[in-house]
Amino acid sequence: MARYLGPVCKQCRREGAKLFLKGERCLSDKCAFDRRPYAPGQHGQRRSKASEYSRHLREKQKVRRIYGILEKQFSLYFDKADAAKGVTGDNLLRLLESRLDNIVYRMGFANTRKAGRQLVRHNHVLINGKKVNIPSYLVKAGDEISIRERSLKIGVIQGALESKERTGWDPWLEVDAKKFKGVVKEIPQVQDLQLSIEPQLIVEFYSK
Ligand code: SF4
Repeated sequence: MARYLGPVCKQCRREGAKLFLKGERCLSDKCAFDRRPYAPGQHGQRRSKASEYSRHLREKQKVRRIYGILEKQFSLYFDKADAAKGVTGDNLLRLLESRLDNIVYRMGFANTRKAGRQLVRHNHVLINGKKVNIPSYLVKAGDEISIRERSLKIGVIQGALESKERTGWDPWLEVDAKKFKGVVKEIPQVQDLQLSIEPQLIVEFYSK
């Protein structure tokens, strides 16, 4: 499947916000956004008033980049969110949060969503004891996510879990780090996500 292969930190600088795409580096003094908090390129430091359209576009791009989703797939998520009952923007974020690669990251088995995707693709992850290698698989409340027995010694998984133990888990997850497994107690509500996102702007972007 196609994926973004360009420079990761430039995405934060383009969106004018820390998107936390590089694990522990994002919290260190090596963070490119902390060092150069302006857009990349020759005119990156130029200040101009953002138009309504650009605010909507930037919010959509920001969320797409946080979850590592390409344009077409993101628009399919939007259609699905729009067709479901409830508030479209909230539905969209809850769908993205339900992705298996995101849950693997949230549980601390990987230190970025991108690394979570790789673990899933390489068959290291089980859902309710069965191998699932589709990063976009939508996890449901009550599902148990675990790391396959023969993958338990993989250094990056152990390292990611150790750093997650230091920061703690989201309340909608119940993780047993010693057993390399966890249960999704519920799919979080948008207000429970510690993301500075305004989903309504994305709805407005697609409503044009
Ligand atoms: Fe973004 Fe900074 Fe992390 Fe790079 S290190 S991905 S700029 S938050």
